[in-house]
This record gives sequence, C-alpha cells and structure tokens, in this order.
Amino acid sequence: MAAHRRLAPAERAALEALAARFRREKHFAGCAGFRVTERVRWTVAGWRTVLVYPAGYRARSARHAGAGVVAEGVEDRAGEATRDVVVLSWSDAGDDGGRLILHETAHQVDFHFGLTEHLLERTAKDLTPWQRALRREYSAFVKALNDGKRSPIDRYAAEDPAEFFAVSTEDFFTTPKRLAARLPRVHALLNDVYRSDPLRARSR
Ligand SMILES: [Zn+2]
Repeated sequence: MAAHRRLAPAERAALEALAARFRREKHFAGCAGFRVTERVRWTVAGWRTVLVYPAGYRARSARHAGAGVVAEGVEDRAGEATRDVVVLSWSDAGDDGGRLILHETAHQVDFHFGLTEHLLERTAKDLTPWQRALRREYSAFVKALNDGKRSPIDRYAAEDPAEFFAVSTEDFFTTPKRLAARLPRVHALLNDVYRSDPLRARSR
C-alpha cells in the first residue's frame, strides 16, 4: 500500500521481515467462498486470526443502548476488529490506500496497549499524559462538530475515542500532511504511537 512506500528503507526492511514471519505463522480463513491468495496473505499479515470476506458482509450485532438495554439486529459491515480477530471485506479494503486495513490495524494496536479503553469514564489521574492529551483532542473535535464546524477528518471519528484513534490513523498514513495541518496535536500523538512520521519518511 502507499503508506508502505513512504517508509524509510530500514523501517521498510523491518516491516517486511515481520510480515514474512506473520505470513508463515498465521492462520487464514476465507469466508463465503473467498479464496485467500498470496497477495491477500501478504497484505493482511500482522494479525493473529484474519477472516476475509469477498465483499461487505452482514453480522448479527448486539449494542448496548443504555439503561441495561441490549439492542440486537443485523448490520452491514466492511470490517471489524476484536482483541484477537480481524474481519475484513476484501473489496472494501481494495484501492483506497488500504484505509480499511489501517483502520482495523489501529483498533488492534489500541486493544493491545489499552489506549482508549474507558477513556471518557476514567479519572485524569488514572490516565497517562498521552491518554489525557488524546481525550482533550477528542473532546475538542466533538465540540467543534457540535458547534457546526467543518470536520477536519471523517465525521465517524466522533463515534467514540477508539474510532477517533482509528480514523485519524488512516489519515496519518495516507494523508499525513493534511492531518498535520488540520490536527497537529493529533498528528504528534499518533507519531508517538507509531514512531514513524510519514511526513519525515517521505522527504528522506
Ligand atoms: Zn472502527
């Protein structure tokens, strides 16, 4: 994907070595008749279990609607991530610079480090400086949208801090200059997480 080409040579070599190992060790399962090709394998190398559907899929959903009510239903999805499993729709993950893949990878990173877990409910002293900064940025983002301001990134980021992190990760790797210009503090926070600034990597 495009973001991969922007990495510095050493970073790229490290990523490729890691991907090769994951590709050997990972279990792949095609769903709904989807054939897992080499290209698919290489692209999604990086997760523990990956379910790949040929296109968008429908899943049973259970959402907490508040006051102890769980709303159940069926919804169309393009991808999702839990702690161990990533589900992808390959047709949705296709041309768009791998935005969907970046998005689901961001959720994996988030789960792994517990970055946004209960971010809004926890007291400030239970949070790291990084988490407090992310919470401030998320709150400012939501407030700006509520005030009718134009959204600097996809509005879906307002859903919750986890989506804010995942959506801004997409921009961090695909349109880094724009993200740095529109949300400089978010760009800096993501740089702390991924330790590879696509802006700098590109100009090398
Ligand atoms: Zn998401």
